[in-house]
Amino acid sequence: MTAEPTVASELLEASDELIERAVAHADPMVLRGLLYQLTGDEEVAATRITVDPRGFQTFMMVADEDDVASLRRKAVELLRAHRDAGGGPMDIGPEERLRRSVPLTLGEELDDAEFEYCREELALDPWARTLSWSEPPPAERLEDFSVTVIGAGFGGLNAALMLKRAGIPYTVIEKDSGVGGTWWETRYPGARVDTPSRAYTHIFGAHFPYSSPFCDSAENQRYFDWVADNFGLRDDIVFDTEVLELTWDEAASEWEIEIDGPEGRRTLRSNAVVTAVGFLNRPRIPEIEGMADFRGRSWHTSRWPEDADVDGKRVAVVGTGCTGYQLIPELARSTEHVVAFQRTPQWLFGVPGYLSRFPEEVSWLDRNLPHYTSFMRLRTLGTGKAFMRMTEIDPDFDDPHSVSARNKIVRDAALEFLHRKVADPELRAIMTPEHPPWSARAVVVDTEYSVLDAIQRDDVTLVTSGIRRITETGIEDGDGTHHEVDVIVSATGFHASEYLFPMKIRGVGGQTLEDLWRVGGARAYRFCMYPGFPNLWSVYGPNSNGVLGPGTFHDLVTRYALECMERLILEDRRAIEPKREAYDRFNEEVDARNARKVWSDPRATTSYYWTEHGRSAVMCPFNSPEIFGLLRHPQFDELEIR
Ligand code: NAP
Repeated sequence: MTAEPTVASELLEASDELIERAVAHADPMVLRGLLYQLTGDEEVAATRITVDPRGFQTFMMVADEDDVASLRRKAVELLRAHRDAGGGPMDIGPEERLRRSVPLTLGEELDDAEFEYCREELALDPWARTLSWSEPPPAERLEDFSVTVIGAGFGGLNAALMLKRAGIPYTVIEKDSGVGGTWWETRYPGARVDTPSRAYTHIFGAHFPYSSPFCDSAENQRYFDWVADNFGLRDDIVFDTEVLELTWDEAASEWEIEIDGPEGRRTLRSNAVVTAVGFLNRPRIPEIEGMADFRGRSWHTSRWPEDADVDGKRVAVVGTGCTGYQLIPELARSTEHVVAFQRTPQWLFGVPGYLSRFPEEVSWLDRNLPHYTSFMRLRTLGTGKAFMRMTEIDPDFDDPHSVSARNKIVRDAALEFLHRKVADPELRAIMTPEHPPWSARAVVVDTEYSVLDAIQRDDVTLVTSGIRRITETGIEDGDGTHHEVDVIVSATGFHASEYLFPMKIRGVGGQTLEDLWRVGGARAYRFCMYPGFPNLWSVYGPNSNGVLGPGTFHDLVTRYALECMERLILEDRRAIEPKREAYDRFNEEVDARNARKVWSDPRATTSYYWTEHGRSAVMCPFNSPEIFGLLRHPQFDELEIR
C-alpha cells in the first residue's frame, strides 16, 4: 500500500466507456500536470488557467471548456493505450520534467525551495521523510539511546514509525486503550474531518484507499489502525497509561517520566521525549450555574459515552464551533428535539458532497490512472500561498467587515451561501458573524444538509440569548425561557492554547514550561523545541495550526527531531536544545506576522485562535514551503549541543 498501487487486471478489463466515464471525474488541473509529466505534450502545457477565488479556498482552474475537453481526450487515449499495452506500473517520466509539471498542476510558479516541498508532497517516494543516516550509527550508541513518544494518535504513530525505521529504540505511552488519539476519542454523531482526506495522511500513507473526500471518524480510525498494524507498531505502545510529569535530569542527561497506568504510578527514563498529544484533546468544560443539579445525563462531545442513546430524546447542545455545527444537524435526524445554544455564529462554507463518498469513478482513477493519486494529493495540499494572502490584513483596504479585497470575496461567497440556504432575513442576521472570515475557525458544511437546514426544522430550537442557569430538568436561557431536556452536550471546545496541558514539565534547573510561558503564553522554537528543555520535541506544537495539513507537519517535525537525535548519537553528545536568542527571534517573527493576519482582528479575539496575552499561541503565519524550509534541517548554530 505504500507504493503506487497497480491493479493491472482492473484496467485490462475496462471498457472504453468505463475509461471515459472515469476520466470525466478527473480534476482538469491534475490532468494538466500529470499528462505533461507522463508525455511531455506541449499542447497540455499550453492550456490556459484562471482563478476561482470563491469558496473557502482559492483555486486555479483550467479556463476554457475546450481545453478541459482536450485534456480529458488525451487522458482517455493514454489510458486506452496503456490498457492495450498490458497495463501495469507506468514510469513517472523524466525527473527534471517534474520541475514544470508540478507548477502546471498547481497553476503557480515555484522557486526551487518551494518545488522541493512540492516534490516531497507528491509522495512518489513514500519514505522520503525517513531519517537517512549520514553515516552508519555505532550499534552500542544506538542501543544506549532511547526515546519516549507521548501519544499514539496521528502524530505519535508517525513518530514511532520513523524511529523504528531509523533503528532508534523507543516506547510510546498512550492514555487511551487504542491508537488514534483525538480521533479515538472523537466519536460524536457527525464527526468528520474538514481537511480533505487526501491531505490527511502522511506521505507513506498517501495511497490509503479512503472512500470519501472528507472521512468520518470511523474511517480516520481505520487509517490509524492500518498504520499501527501494517507497520507492527502496537507492541511498542503502552496503552491505558498517562504521562503525568517529565523531569530533566541534567547529571544523567535523561528525562524522568512519571506515568500512571494499570500497574499504578511508575517512572521511566529515556534520553529524549517526543510529545504528540494534540492540541484539541483536553476538553474545556464550561462552568455554568446549576450544572451539578441537572438530573439528566451530560457530557462533552469528546467523551461521547458508548452507551449514549439520544434517539427520541430532547438534547441541548451548548456551543457552536465546528463541533456543534457538525453535531446539531446529525442529532436532529433522530432526536425528539434539539436545543442549540449559540453565543457566536461562525462562517460556513458549503462544499458539495462534503457528506458523501467518492463517486466510484474517482476511486477507479486512484487505482488505475498511474500517479493520479500523487498529483491529486499535491493539488489538494497546494502551497497555501493563496490562503495566506486571503488572511493577510491589507491596511489600505477600507471595509467594515473584511480585511482585504480577497477576504471580502470569501465573505461574499459565504454570505451568498447563507442567502441560498436561509430565506428568513432575521435568521440570516443571527447566523452572520461579525468577525471577518478566517479570523476564527470557519466551518465546512455540506451544501445539501447542514446546520443551516437543521435550525429551520420544527424540532430544532436555536437559542441566542445565552444561558442563565442549568436546572434539574433543563436550561433557562438569557430571556428566562426554560428548555426541558434529557441530555446536555457540551460542544465547548478544548484547552487549545495550553500546550501539553495538564502534564508538568520541568527542564534544566527545575524551570517549568509554565515559567517559560508566563509572559505571552505557549511558544516554541520552530514549532517544536524549547530552551532549557533539552532533547524534547513536540509534534504539532505551538503555532503549528494554519495552512499545512497535520500529516505533513508531523512528517516534517519528526524528521527534524530525528536529525537532531542523529547528531547526538553520531557525535556521542548528551543534550540538544535551542538557544534562548533563537527562540526569542523566531517568536518575534511569528508574533509580528500573526499581528498582520486576520486572526488578530479584535472582533474574533475570544476564539481559540487568540489568547489573553494579545497573541496567538496556535496559529502559524507561514505558508507551507516556508514551514518546510524552517524544518528541512536543524540549523545547528541556533542550537546548543553538549
Ligand atoms: P470551539 O471552536 O472552541 O468552539 C467552542 C464553542 O463553545 C463556541 O461556540 C463557544 O462560544 C462555545 N462556548 C464555550 N464555552 C461556552 C460557555 N460557557 N457557554 C456557552 N457557549 C460556550 O470548539 P470546537 O467546536 O470543538 O472546535 C475546535 C476545533 O476542533 C475546530 O476549530 C477544529 O479545528 C476542530 N474540529 C474540526 C472538525 C472538523 O474537522 N470538521 C470538527 C470538530 C472540531 P464562543 O465562540 O462565543 O466562545
